[in-house]
Amino acid sequence: MTFFNAGAPLARALSERDYTTPTAVQSAVLAHQSDSDILVSAQTGSGKTVAYGLAIAPTILGDREKLGAPGAPGALIIAPTRELALQVERELQWLYHYAEARIVACVGGMDARLERRKLSEGAHIVVGTPGRLRDHIERGGLVPQKLKAVVLDEADEMLDLGFREDLEFILDATPPERRTLLFSATMPKGIAALARRYQRDARRIDV
Ligand code: AMP
Repeated sequence: MTFFNAGAPLARALSERDYTTPTAVQSAVLAHQSDSDILVSAQTGSGKTVAYGLAIAPTILGDREKLGAPGAPGALIIAPTRELALQVERELQWLYHYAEARIVACVGGMDARLERRKLSEGAHIVVGTPGRLRDHIERGGLVPQKLKAVVLDEADEMLDLGFREDLEFILDATPPERRTLLFSATMPKGIAALARRYQRDARRIDV
């Protein structure tokens, strides 16, 4: 399998980086229907960021102008720490460079007013940590009603850090028909419960 069907702007970014062969998790994720929920066990270093970056592409590229309405992104990525969220943002910035997608990071410890301004200017993808994302939703800076895809990255870590309530708040604020992509290094009971509550017919991917 190649990255050929990634869509021209994303394929161009990948080839410039010499990413010619998908990793195992990328092949597995891309083999699934673009509208199905997935529950993926994946470790750091497996290429999971590019995997979900590509998986949400049809959502982002399909109707870009509409999804770019101020403060109402099409995809939301939730990560446990500021470091990971900013790393994901960087990875998506180059992947979506030629697609000209606007990506905004919302993370604890950074300037919330600046984030709010960026959100109001329009974002296609928002990446952030649970507490800060919840804050923006509660204050009206982040409008979750138009979200088509939500990615939970390192979900086990988010539960370990005590973010269950924030995650539930965020997910409950999003449209029920959204696509939910759940990535976790381990699959403890808490993750299974989260998947049962927030995913529909999720395909399990173990690589
Ligand atoms: P991740 O697991 O998402 O943290 O990715 C680990 C590293 O692998 C990152 O630096 C990625 O940019 C890189 N990477 C992701 N996909 C590929 C690929 N198909 N070929 C080579 N490197 C990749």
